[in-house]
Amino acid sequence: MAAGSAIQIPSRLPLLLTHEGVLLPGSTMRTSVDSPRNMQLVRSRLLKGTSLKSTIIGVIPNTSDPTSDCDDLPSLHRCRPARSGSLAASDAAAWIGTAALAVQVVGSNWPKPHYTLLVTGLCRFQILQLLKEKPYPVAEVEQLDRLEQFTNQHKSEEELGELSEQFYKYAVQLVEMLDMSVPAVAKLRRLLDNLPREALPDILTSIIRTSNQEKLQIVAIRPNRRINHIPTTIEDEEEEEDHDDVVMLEKKIRTSSMSEQALKVCLKEIKRLKKMPQSMPEYALTRNYLELMVELPWNKSTKDRLEIRAARILLDNDHYAMEKLKKRVLEYLAVRQLKNNLKGPILCFVGPPGVGKTSVGRSIAKTLGREFHRIALGGVCDQSDIRGHRRTYVGSMPGRIINGLKTVGVNNPVFLLDEVDKLGKSLQGDPAAALLEVLDPEQNHSFTDHYLNVAFDLSQVLFIATANTIATIPPALLDRMEIIQVPGYTQEEKIEIAHRHLIPKQLEQHGLTPQQIQIPQVTTLDIITRYTREAGVRSLDRKLGAICRAVAVKVAEGQHKETKPDRAEVGEGEDCKEHVTEDAKPESISDTADLALPPEMPILIDFHALKDILGPPMYETEVSQRLSQPGVAIGLAWTPLGGEIMFVEASRMDGEGQLTLTGQLGDVMKESAHLAISWLRSNAKRYQLTNASGSFDLLDNTDIHLHFPAGAVTKDGPSAGVTIVTCLASLFSGRLVCSDVAMTGEITLRGLVLPVGGIKDKVLAAHRAGLKRIIIPQRNEKDLEEIAVNVRQDLTFVMASCLDEVLNAAFDGGFAVKPRVESLNSKL
Ligand code: ADP
Repeated sequence: MAAGSAIQIPSRLPLLLTHEGVLLPGSTMRTSVDSPRNMQLVRSRLLKGTSLKSTIIGVIPNTSDPTSDCDDLPSLHRCRPARSGSLAASDAAAWIGTAALAVQVVGSNWPKPHYTLLVTGLCRFQILQLLKEKPYPVAEVEQLDRLEQFTNQHKSEEELGELSEQFYKYAVQLVEMLDMSVPAVAKLRRLLDNLPREALPDILTSIIRTSNQEKLQIVAIRPNRRINHIPTTIEDEEEEEDHDDVVMLEKKIRTSSMSEQALKVCLKEIKRLKKMPQSMPEYALTRNYLELMVELPWNKSTKDRLEIRAARILLDNDHYAMEKLKKRVLEYLAVRQLKNNLKGPILCFVGPPGVGKTSVGRSIAKTLGREFHRIALGGVCDQSDIRGHRRTYVGSMPGRIINGLKTVGVNNPVFLLDEVDKLGKSLQGDPAAALLEVLDPEQNHSFTDHYLNVAFDLSQVLFIATANTIATIPPALLDRMEIIQVPGYTQEEKIEIAHRHLIPKQLEQHGLTPQQIQIPQVTTLDIITRYTREAGVRSLDRKLGAICRAVAVKVAEGQHKETKPDRAEVGEGEDCKEHVTEDAKPESISDTADLALPPEMPILIDFHALKDILGPPMYETEVSQRLSQPGVAIGLAWTPLGGEIMFVEASRMDGEGQLTLTGQLGDVMKESAHLAISWLRSNAKRYQLTNASGSFDLLDNTDIHLHFPAGAVTKDGPSAGVTIVTCLASLFSGRLVCSDVAMTGEITLRGLVLPVGGIKDKVLAAHRAGLKRIIIPQRNEKDLEEIAVNVRQDLTFVMASCLDEVLNAAFDGGFAVKPRVESLNSKL
């Protein structure tokens, strides 16, 4: 369509002066027309004309001042500036415009009368003489863009052909640098092949992003120069577009406070960036890298404001109980205040979920006035998660440490490394080893993330770790940490935590006030004992959240109905009926009898309301029922989620002396079972234990099945030894184990009871389950000191050093021939 040489334009052309845009041969442009002269041209020429010829006009771009009245004939960009009035013939000789076909005319009266023209450029023309100016300008023109004209006058045809070919190749090369999978790019590539070579410069100019000024140059320039000019324009455009950003980036790099080594690397990279075509994938990579480098807080830190007294108050305000933890944290902070460096072990809080480990970490950051950032390590099994990917990978990223620093924007935050016990290991390297480098004060001042590839000083970062158990923390890592055990809470502590912290927080989150909802302590206790079974307070918090949601609905409904009659005005009978069931208390949420009434504030959460909101209780104390036959005993187990009570069941049947064990047991547990049976067999006579046929050989014609119910949790560890012995003693003696006794302890073949771990969690679990007497190994007596006085008061502890003592304490009236019960009603 733009093959200039094939088109013959009329020698007289009406001229359209455009404000905006420059029309090039071969391209199409939409232009708005509203000046009187142009409007005239459209009306009397385009709309009235009938021949094709009458739709060809000359388009002259007006670049003098787009805001000035377009009625003045403008000068072309390379002529003198526009003057008002007519055009002298000498000026006109220099005018070059683009002849165009008016393809479409659309008229509109809004916001003011105007036409929108769609014009397609045909070829260039030069004005020879202006024939008239009114009502619209008409000029005598000479068609340009006839190759033969130029070839005759200037260069040989061959040379121009060569130039066109070169141009074509250059254009192809440039386009192929782009992503060919983009449909528009592929189309452009096809276009290059299909268009006549001499039309390429114009069409490419109209496609690429060029300023009007540049387009004007292309309109006016001769074909050979035009061809040379465009590649430079394309390059200029690409460079210019990004040049500003790169210059800015360089400035930022130079003014940032990064380390000398980092600065050197960045300057090298920016030098490369400047030379790189933008379309290269590496361009974006390098830019992202440099932007990250600029963003990192090389030298930015918050000022520590540490005041031990304030810290103590803050910790106390934020957390109830956990005295040991708070004490140790204060010690740690005090040492930091006196000795201004962070060298020393990393604190690691170990305990069941929901006991406030994260929350204490957050408080530490608050007391220090530092930023807080949590890095979840659970399931991380690739070392590049910690140390980043090398930049050679597509999609490479910095590791979590560097990312965290970018997020907080300072170099001295508190980083909480959450769940270090859940670090994985895989073919992609050991993340624990990477973490070691991060935590080691001797090394971490020059921590090198693979992505950054320069050292970053982590020595100002305060690391705190959390874990559920130390058993799975990689030993090398454990070596760097100081473990602080955070045990589970007692029921009383949970009630206090709920009323001091959790309930106020939930009320606030749900937009409720204490005047609207009342949760008595007995209800909280009900939630704790019948709806949750946990060492921490996370489920409790969730249940309280559920209650608040339900109450929020009631309150909102009540507000809606406030216009309805007040309770006092309601008929006597109705009122009475309600109060009979509710026992004259304030209205409970369960009271849905009359929805038309607004609820009476505060809404009281009693047991009925609990049942309505949370459903029937999930845990009932089942202990006594389960101990109603011989062969059942209650043990105490420790799991990363806190202490648990564990029923051990045994049954015997005719067989060949085989022992079957079920309930997901580890090897140590199986060994305990064998030990227990051996000890009982060797002591059968002493205790008068017999098999079904009355023989002291307990396994004679007898099979034994031992089962450890409650689930899919793998149970291992030696502490069930005493429970297995008790359970089997009950089975073979036919006597019931006391229903309120729980026990823990490792056994030896000679019947000694050895100490075990996790006593505090186990005791708390027994207390939660409502048991009264606890048998523990003698050598664990010291562990009882850690247990809260009120819990100790509720329980009777039996310290046992041998199995005789265990059995004596486990059965009502004792078990052995010579009972020797050492019962201690906690004097600690
Ligand atoms: P963890 O990190 O041990 O799994 P979180 O720190 O996430 O537990 O605690 C869960 C919720 O319980 C938090 O809302 C926390 O504020 C609250 N919480 C836990 N222990 C206490 C406590 N002793 N005093 C006040 N709130 C507590």
